[in-house]
Amino acid sequence: METTLIYEGKAKNVYSSDEPNVLRLEYLDQATALNGKKKDVVKGKGELNNQITSLIFSELSKQSISNHWIKILSKNEQLVKKVKIIPLEVVLRNVAAGSFTRRLGVKEGTILEHPIIEFYYKDDLLDDPFINDEHIAYLSLASKDELAYIKSETLKINNALIKIFDDIDVTLVDFKLEFGKDANGAIILSDEVTPDTCRLWDKSTRTSLDKDIYRKDLGNIIPIYQEILSRLKNKGEDKDV
Ligand code: UDP
Repeated sequence: METTLIYEGKAKNVYSSDEPNVLRLEYLDQATALNGKKKDVVKGKGELNNQITSLIFSELSKQSISNHWIKILSKNEQLVKKVKIIPLEVVLRNVAAGSFTRRLGVKEGTILEHPIIEFYYKDDLLDDPFINDEHIAYLSLASKDELAYIKSETLKINNALIKIFDDIDVTLVDFKLEFGKDANGAIILSDEVTPDTCRLWDKSTRTSLDKDIYRKDLGNIIPIYQEILSRLKNKGEDKDV
């Protein structure tokens, strides 16, 4: 396959493919935090995240939640629909953690009565600032209708993900999504859903099974990501019988 590197990301590289509206993603063995200021090679991470996000996206597709994922190509590569990414990080919180606890002084672990959606402007130079609906309109990042659609999809995705993780004894604390516009102009879920982009707490021990282990220097993330993958795989096999 004759392909060219289109974009070099923090966790994955993006290549063209034989088809004009299809891209190949290569998941990298790289961990970053603090907007790239903390950065390490973590061998095996690319394969794990490629497989985890593929299992999750295929399950979301089964539930009619449109997304960019087409198929897994190899251990660390997948094919996705080409989209133009909307420069918004859409964060949804079910439980208080991370920047929410720091900003609002809410105790970590507080269960939020209703999910709370936040937006961040995806711009490395500006350090991804927290923004609201009016900033999004001012910057023309999305129209009113598009933003309403993104919010309703995010809530739908939350319900689907809560169930996926609940089935493997994991609490979905919060997560970050990115959306893009496909060749037909439809807004679809893009990027990834992995322990890099979600806070996942083990139901019985309440310990983190996600990137907080790396952010807080609590140890090696590989066995933890492996645990998430193997629980998801085992659950998938249970379902197939
Ligand atoms: N998140 C992400 N990428 C970012 C920032 C946040 O995937 O650049 C995810 C993060 O893993 C968590 C959720 O979004 O699941 C909320 O993150 P938060 O705002 O609490 O930021 P943090 O505490 O990580 O700085």
